[in-house]
Amino acid sequence: MDFTEQVAQIKADVMARKAERAQVFAQDVLRASSFHPCPRQMYYQVHNWQDREPVSAEKQCLFDFGNTVEEHALADLNAAGYKVTRQQQPFEIPVEGGVVRGHIDGWISGGALGEQEMPLEIKGYTYEAERIDDWREFLTKAQPWLQQVPAQLTLYMLGTNTPRAVMVMVDKKGAELYPLPIELDYDYAEGLLRKAEMVYEHLAAEVEPDRVSYSTALCGNCDFAHICQPINPTLDDEGAVLDPWIIDLAELHVHTKPANDAHDDAKKVLREVYLKAGRAVLLVGPLKITQTKAGAVNMNRRKDDGTE
Ligand code: SF4
Repeated sequence: MDFTEQVAQIKADVMARKAERAQVFAQDVLRASSFHPCPRQMYYQVHNWQDREPVSAEKQCLFDFGNTVEEHALADLNAAGYKVTRQQQPFEIPVEGGVVRGHIDGWISGGALGEQEMPLEIKGYTYEAERIDDWREFLTKAQPWLQQVPAQLTLYMLGTNTPRAVMVMVDKKGAELYPLPIELDYDYAEGLLRKAEMVYEHLAAEVEPDRVSYSTALCGNCDFAHICQPINPTLDDEGAVLDPWIIDLAELHVHTKPANDAHDDAKKVLREVYLKAGRAVLLVGPLKITQTKAGAVNMNRRKDDGTE
């Protein structure tokens, strides 16, 4: 091995180690940190934990880097006169049919906060941290990992019986801290508990909750999409797809423009559906999908009366 090859091997060794660490862990109860917007996904987290898509080595790099952000934030907070105690304290919230468990990053006090300790959560972001000034804004985001943030923080407050918490967002590019106040919203909290109970009810009956409407942000990033929505379309005699989630994708495809993420994701899944169906012509809602002799898959909009 020459020197160039030796150095190239460093990256290969690091990624191989990441791949080894990227395991699927058993989950027997609902967790505050993974309170997904889709109840069916939460059901799978417990009922089908072995089926979870393993984390890729690349994603493991991001997770590991995210963990280093916490140390960085704690050092900055300490240097500025804030105290963080009882790190990784576990909590448990009993609900009808089960429990919701979690760990809080720590309890923060001192400086402008005074002596009263409150739960602290530290999260690293690569964008927008400086633009978020109200925790409810997370609820409007498309990405499930952002939508989950208010649920996680609210469950921390419920689990520790405190009305306020502090979230410290760390901008992973500029390394600055952006603290955000979180106050307990009882109606929102009540909704989370009812959602947990609904999922436990389904777990007891071993029946999956209904799917949410297909969304590329949710379903396209779902670790259980392969069991929830296997790409195995049901067809009628005319070769028209009957699965509502696939028809929703075709609608999304015709109502968005190329180069838009949602459009491109929908196109990718529809292409797989077409190839799996094994038909020369596949009708999916507003789309007619065909393949050229060279192998390219074409998607054309059908006329309003369903003809091509
Ligand atoms: S694929 Fe979509 S509907 Fe199915 S569990 Fe995942 S997020 Fe929910």
